[in-house]
Amino acid sequence: MRRFYMPHTLFISDLHLSAAHADSMAAFRRFIGEIAPHAERLYILGDLFEYWAGDDDCDDVFHAEVIALLRGLSASQTQVFILHGNRDLLMGVGLTQACHAQLLAEPTLIDLYGTPTLLSHGDTLCTDDIEYQKFRAQVHGAAFQSQFLAQPLAARKAYIQQIRNHSSQEKQHKSMAIMDVNAEAVATMLRDYGYPQLIHGHTHRPNRHEHVVDGKHCVRWVLGDWGVEGNALRCDLNGCAVIGF
Ligand code: MN
Repeated sequence: MRRFYMPHTLFISDLHLSAAHADSMAAFRRFIGEIAPHAERLYILGDLFEYWAGDDDCDDVFHAEVIALLRGLSASQTQVFILHGNRDLLMGVGLTQACHAQLLAEPTLIDLYGTPTLLSHGDTLCTDDIEYQKFRAQVHGAAFQSQFLAQPLAARKAYIQQIRNHSSQEKQHKSMAIMDVNAEAVATMLRDYGYPQLIHGHTHRPNRHEHVVDGKHCVRWVLGDWGVEGNALRCDLNGCAVIGF
């Protein structure tokens, strides 16, 4: 029997898909096969991939499967939108066109069933991590990116691997507080965009927060990362709720 699904939108982030992590890929196949096709829209708010070395890596066998799953979803009438994360910041229109998805700017304001909602990966909010923000400014520069993408794919992958080794060593020394969002950065973002609802990922601390900024009440949803199980925020006319699968 065909089930009735109320029109709804799904938000996911921080899947960190890679050929080395079979569990999260299995969760992604389940999600794309059974859950996402019922949604009107799917928003991927960054870190879909563990890393992305450039759109010329679309032909990699693992990447080709992810792309085919998203393209199939798009063909089944679910619109797909992708925002950059800090790990896959080099995703370009080559990848998103292959997925039949739309690449969004960071951050993007949408109308979510009448509720103005701001979508962000979330890393720009972690302003207490000064080292990271310096790194972010560098790698988001147009000059850095064009110079980097001019290198051969194998060289880019080797460079990213080096950065990843370094950052996992560094993370062990950073306090948990430094790696969370800064309250003032959140307030500034909410103020700049007219006090919307905010949905972001990045911190891997799934939760629902309430903020009062300049007397306005704002809700901030933080999406969780994926492992053996995946999770998504499901929103419809009546509001939002976390689902696991
Ligand atoms: Mn991230």
